[in-house]
Amino acid sequence: MVQFCPECSNLLRKKTDEGNSFLACKCGYQEILEQLVDLESVQKKRDALKKNLIIVSEEDKVSLHPIAKKTCPKCENKKAESWQVQIRSSDEPSTHFFRCTQCKFTWREQ
Ligand SMILES: [Zn+2]
Ligand SMILES: [Zn+2]
Repeated sequence: MVQFCPECSNLLRKKTDEGNSFLACKCGYQEILEQLVDLESVQKKRDALKKNLIIVSEEDKVSLHPIAKKTCPKCENKKAESWQVQIRSSDEPSTHFFRCTQCKFTWREQ
């Protein structure tokens, strides 16, 4: 079903927001349709979306480490994230940490 804006005769686009669906036009005209989506399923979708966002942001944090060509002692994958940590005083050499990009095994080398 195609409807046109009574104000400017442009094509109205169907949108959904907060479980309500409505027709909207570029000029700002809106026509509310009946509530087609039940709120519970909208809420569930949002929760799922939030979970996804958290996962994505954690992955972002992890990928801040540069990837080094290192062989994982566990699964023999050839790539590992690497970063350095100064464990004791600044006179000591820093410890190199590696984390396998595949099995997430973490090990360290001096
Ligand atoms: Zn319009
Ligand atoms: Zn591995």
